[in-house]
Amino acid sequence: MSRPITARIYLNALRQNLSRVRERAPSARVWSVVKANAYGHGLLEAMRAFAQTDGLALVEFEGAIRLREAGWGRPILMLEGAFGPDDVALALQHQLSLVVHDAGQAAWLEHPVQHPIDVYLKINTGMNRLGVPIDQAVAMHRRLMNAAAVRSVTLMTHFANADLPGGIDEASARFERAVTGLIGARSLANSAAILDSPRVHQDWVRPGIMLYGATPFADRSAVDLGLRPAMGLHSRLIGVQSLQAGDAVGYGSSFVADRAMRIGIVAGGYADGYPRHAPTGTPVAVDGVRTRTVGRVSMDMLAVDLTPVPQAAVGAPVELWGEIIPVDEVAAQAGTIGYELLCAVAPRVRREVLDDGHASEDPVRL
Ligand SMILES: *Cc1c(COP(=O)(O)O)cnc(C)c1O
Repeated sequence: MSRPITARIYLNALRQNLSRVRERAPSARVWSVVKANAYGHGLLEAMRAFAQTDGLALVEFEGAIRLREAGWGRPILMLEGAFGPDDVALALQHQLSLVVHDAGQAAWLEHPVQHPIDVYLKINTGMNRLGVPIDQAVAMHRRLMNAAAVRSVTLMTHFANADLPGGIDEASARFERAVTGLIGARSLANSAAILDSPRVHQDWVRPGIMLYGATPFADRSAVDLGLRPAMGLHSRLIGVQSLQAGDAVGYGSSFVADRAMRIGIVAGGYADGYPRHAPTGTPVAVDGVRTRTVGRVSMDMLAVDLTPVPQAAVGAPVELWGEIIPVDEVAAQAGTIGYELLCAVAPRVRREVLDDGHASEDPVRL
């Protein structure tokens, strides 16, 4: 029997979350963002579920080539662009669209080719991560329009604060100043801007986290946004202990029982991607009943309070996150965001892909 920890991937939830994007941004085309193995959900599974999207966007060239080999014929956008001239050759061979965020990348596109590609000129509007400065946007646009390997230029930026009230006002005004008069489509909005800022939807939106059913906001839940979790992290109890008042649990004895109680030991720890920083009290469901973790998370196991589930025994199902326990709640307890937990599910965790309720084991991993 395999170790019971399993990530269930719900293709229907992925499809429904893409429909939410379409409802919010009905006149925009959609780049579904599938970087980091589709935020931990599986690249080829995401490709299947997002059959209705206009394009797929990611940062890994190996992933882009796998998408082409798996038959994806629609646009693919490389969000960090080429890391070297070899990547430009790959992009030309596989017809991948490239972000261009600095002059070095533009130089690699200035030779004649048989089939030119589409590029996205990324403009720095205040994140100060990638992008050309506002005052160089016009010159770089002209340079790319004249580059022999370039078929079209789209203008893009990425917001530093789209999840905060008023957080895009300054950045979107800078973007407008930078691109006034330039021809080309526009792409600005990540999930937070799709949900909150219709005026920046423009031509192409770029949803990531909302497709996977987690929230981009600190103060609004995925359920409130009409999103469905696309991943459930499930395991089972592999041990039960009866504690007396004064008994401790786990490394460092950080939890001490203040009364007699039963605890369950779950096959799941930080080597599976469950956050070690999740403190006592982090929500977890046993046999469908909400309870809490107790003590420190270790590499392969964690402990849960069985007080609200007195019938629970070895073998009882445990949901670490999913439909009962939103991943965002676990993340908040651990001082991080749902994005990080979804991406960090470890390779040793078995994945089960569910399509209309039918499960299939899927060995494909990035
Ligand atoms: C990751 C990424 C996105 C998606 O962001 P979410 O917050 O997950 O919606 C959009 N655009 C770019 C450039 C990205 O790198």
